Amino acid sequence: MFALMKAARLEALHLTRDPVTGLEAIIAIHSTRLGPALGGCRFLDYADTESAVRDAMRLAQGMSYKAALAGLELGGGKAVLIRPPHIGDRCALFQAFGRFIETLGGRYITAVDSGTSSTDMDCIARQTRHVTSTTDEGDPSPHTAEGVFAGIRATARARLGCEELEGLRIAVQGLGHVGYALSERLAAAGAELLVSDLEHSRVQRAVEHLGARPVASDALLREPCDILAPCGLGGILNGESVGTLRCAAVAGAANNQLAGPEVADLLQRRGILYAPDYVINAGGLIYVALRHRGESDQSIGAHLGGIRLRLSAIYARSLAEGCSPARIADEEAERLIYG
Ligand code: NAD
Repeated sequence: MFALMKAARLEALHLTRDPVTGLEAIIAIHSTRLGPALGGCRFLDYADTESAVRDAMRLAQGMSYKAALAGLELGGGKAVLIRPPHIGDRCALFQAFGRFIETLGGRYITAVDSGTSSTDMDCIARQTRHVTSTTDEGDPSPHTAEGVFAGIRATARARLGCEELEGLRIAVQGLGHVGYALSERLAAAGAELLVSDLEHSRVQRAVEHLGARPVASDALLREPCDILAPCGLGGILNGESVGTLRCAAVAGAANNQLAGPEVADLLQRRGILYAPDYVINAGGLIYVALRHRGESDQSIGAHLGGIRLRLSAIYARSLAEGCSPARIADEEAERLIYG
């Protein structure tokens, strides 16, 4: 485990269990060099504890990089709650998790993530103030979608020479909280939408309300399009799938889209412009961090606007140096965190 922590440059790993509620939780703190570690808590099924720990560590590192490049005075962390086979009192379980967060004295601040909701955050908030995205503070997803939409425009400008999206063919994989809100914005901007989701009803809604064309999930990546926007799960870009892509750029919300760092170079060699995921999808983090600090809508809006500028600067460096945008983003984040 220490070798894994060393490889990821992880600062701390905390584990707890509460036999009364069935809570089994892991908090990975990647870095607190720039501020307290903020990152969501997942509540999912895991095959075993080790895969849950690995997930938490990997995601915590991504949060550090995301916060650093978003210009927030925050470090990165992530919590994973292993979903028990039987949940008795869900709120009691999240309250037990809240007590665990409180023991860390503010070094970790939690938020909504896969499998959790603002109602769960409300339960945590009964035990600690180190929690964001409660029902009072609101859902970060629309802000993530807004940032991704701005990032898609920056990507279109860099790769296609024009940031107007009218008439561009954009393929959205995953129509959940972020993917659907993004599709609404893309449709309003006049883009031609291709969509897929594992849940038929979500596809049907996009077809009926946004005029989108449905595509089978396993076929979407191979569809000819201008921009592919992955908004489902991570890891979809690997040696095999990149070979079949027929798009000019990839720019979407999903975390950890690249199966490994070498995939960024494959995309670069194929002339496919890649928007580093933790740069383009930072809108939700920016929202929860600034809302938690009590900042105004105006200040949050101004900060969200930075996503487009940051991506454009990364693309300019990528073009000048012939290096993938993902490598440029990693390098800049590491410089900000480690000096
Ligand atoms: P969500 O669970 O609401 O939606 C994900 C959707 O993707 C679901 O409808 C699911 O059926 C679909 N999906 C999964 N795999 C698919 C596949 N192979 N093909 C087609 N559809 C597939 O999640 P979300 O909150 O919308 O987040 C989407 C992604 O964005 C996740 O990777 C998440 O980590 C990332 N992200 C979300 C936020 C946020 O604010 N919610 C912020 C940053 C990053």
